[in-house]
Amino acid sequence: MSNLRELYLEMVTDHAKRPRNKGKVDPCDHTGHGYNPLCGDVVMITLNLDGETIKDLKFDGEGCAISTASADLMADAVKGKTIEDARLLFRGFHALVAGDGFDGDLGKLIVFEGVREFPMRVKCATLAWHTLIAALDDSTEVTTE
Ligand code: ZN
Repeated sequence: MSNLRELYLEMVTDHAKRPRNKGKVDPCDHTGHGYNPLCGDVVMITLNLDGETIKDLKFDGEGCAISTASADLMADAVKGKTIEDARLLFRGFHALVAGDGFDGDLGKLIVFEGVREFPMRVKCATLAWHTLIAALDDSTEVTTE
């Protein structure tokens, strides 16, 4: 077992059990709802912007360990970032788990690299990100299908 794989299991377990960013931002500027019918994951994102910067973001919903951990780590990753940077991170993350790979700096998100070997799980890992983009674009419903 590689170190990255061990770290992945550790982080997914930890963030799924004790998410730091679960709840609602209230009142909030933007919301998004995401659904992954393949697994049954549901996620709701609420966020506030300060100009172009994501000032606060929380997620709520019910999902598997991967979708919950991914939502929690996404919240950590994009808080304090600009909308443009959040979109770039999503592109990088998507390339990492479902595309040709990504060499840039994704911080802790790099642990999700192993998900690419499990296509069924890619949608769990990317659901929160799709929902974030939907929230930023004010298209409130999103499904991974
Ligand atoms: Zn799932």
